[in-house]
Amino acid sequence: MYGTGSLKHIVILGGGTAGWMTAASLGHRYRRSGIRITVVESSAIGTIGVGEATIPTLRAFYHGLGMSDYEVIAATNASCKLGIRFSGWAGEGSRFIHPFGGFGQDMAATEFHHIFNAARRRGMPGPLDDYALGAALAKAGKFALPSPSRETWTQFDWALHFDAGLFANHMRDFAVKAGVHRIDAILKNVRLSPESGFIEALELDSGEGVEGDLFVDCSGFQALLIGKGLSVGYEDYGRWLFCDSAVAQQSERVEAPNSFTEVTARPAGWQWHIPLQHRSGNGHVYSSAHMPDEDAIRILGDTLPGKAVTEPRIIRFRPGRRINAWEKNCVAIGLSSGFLEPLESTSIALIQTGIERLQMLLPVDGYDPVAIDEHNDMAKREFERTRDFIILHYKLNRRDGDFWHKAAAMDVPDTLARKMELYRSRGHFVRYRWEMFHPASWLAIYAGFGVWPDSVDPAVTQMSDIEADLNLKAIRDRIADAVQAAPPHQAFLDHCNRLARGAASIQGA
Ligand SMILES: Cc1cc2nc3c(=O)[nH]c(=O)nc-3n(C[C@H](O)[C@H](O)[C@H](O)COP(=O)(O)OP(=O)(O)OC[C@H]3O[C@@H](n4cnc5c(N)ncnc54)[C@H](O)[C@@H]3O)c2cc1C
Repeated sequence: MYGTGSLKHIVILGGGTAGWMTAASLGHRYRRSGIRITVVESSAIGTIGVGEATIPTLRAFYHGLGMSDYEVIAATNASCKLGIRFSGWAGEGSRFIHPFGGFGQDMAATEFHHIFNAARRRGMPGPLDDYALGAALAKAGKFALPSPSRETWTQFDWALHFDAGLFANHMRDFAVKAGVHRIDAILKNVRLSPESGFIEALELDSGEGVEGDLFVDCSGFQALLIGKGLSVGYEDYGRWLFCDSAVAQQSERVEAPNSFTEVTARPAGWQWHIPLQHRSGNGHVYSSAHMPDEDAIRILGDTLPGKAVTEPRIIRFRPGRRINAWEKNCVAIGLSSGFLEPLESTSIALIQTGIERLQMLLPVDGYDPVAIDEHNDMAKREFERTRDFIILHYKLNRRDGDFWHKAAAMDVPDTLARKMELYRSRGHFVRYRWEMFHPASWLAIYAGFGVWPDSVDPAVTQMSDIEADLNLKAIRDRIADAVQAAPPHQAFLDHCNRLARGAASIQGA
């Protein structure tokens, strides 16, 4: 039993994106430590099979494992993601992009958004996303790697859309090569110590019992260890996030993939379109209290970009979080630890930070209540801050219909109300530790919905209006030139595939 000696065996239940990302990362980091790692997964049960849009932190994750972008792009049929295009959220026909990265360039030691806000009040034309190179590339169907220049207008970040099954397989192959042991079996029972209540072993349908010191629950929504085994409760966010269902369906690729995720508002939720190299991932996220399943399926079917290649599949979820992500000798990572909704592609990023926290506080020599408390506090704060960012989209909507009116009228959490107040009154962005979204992301959403500070920051008077307008025009012109010079997104993907084939033939030689 663990607690008297050093950590010897980590058992991960679940082989979805969460389980294999965790196994790959722990396997790589502790490969010479003598700590054994085992993944128990069931091919008979399978994985959730969605979760194909990411944010840029994902790239840092696989870079940390020594994987290159082109390797992952080729292995997972991925496309590049420069941001998310919101269609219809600020009213029928509206469109804006939430790009990864900042906008424009600070001038005279004054933040760009203050200068833009002042110019906007003077009637300076152009939406904010014209001042973000990533958004401009996305709109033009182009892709180029960010330039090493220090000028901030040139800066942007990017992520991937990938095939979730291929990504989990890629992580699994890597983990197994790093020495992670895999067992394909169904969990039948969680054996707890009668004295401590700690998990002692996972009892499998094969009759085998897998004992461990630390258990990572990556069993998905069922939360078989943290929820069913250890009875840790769940905080429901349904009073702010009304969507509780999704219908997912894949379709044939009909055109070169976009370099952004499309999220289109619908009467009781929204629809995603995720372009991959070989097919499209599509889904309709909705509130079952506002729309019957048949309507949700029909709306998705009527708007698929190509011929369906899978049947529509309904997925139910409950927005919220596990009250303690770490309880006794069990840590929940992935859907077992909670789920908001997929609007800003935050779930895989939360897996990543869950892994990061586990590694930071790994119980190498016993369970320290302070470390567990710190872990749970960080996880809670991160979930709540991410939740607030997602709620913002609903709160600011400008659509008609019961679902959208109810969302616009809701009382938001105090933490979000405070941020919104500071933005409106001062143009100030609050950013805390364990906060996934930068001020630029908040700005993108406020501006997309037409929300601006009530006043102009007096620092803008450092420049004359004419000077500011000329500078803004210069930024727009330079972005337009950079877009003009960039290759099509597909050309970049082809280049990655060629590089991956070249690397494979060198390895095979
Ligand atoms: C509609 C929807 C859309 C989403 N879109 C996105 C997105 O665009 N971007 C994003 O970042 N995230 C998205 N997510 C979240 C994302 O899908 C998950 O975070 C990610 O797939 C991780 O899931 P998981 O590994 O925790 O669970 P799962 O994929 O469900 O894996 C659970 C694992 O546990 C195993 N298991 C279960 N029961 C047993 C048992 N009894 N015995 C043995 N093994 C068992 C299963 O076999 C499986 O291997 C979305 C989620 C939903 C619901």
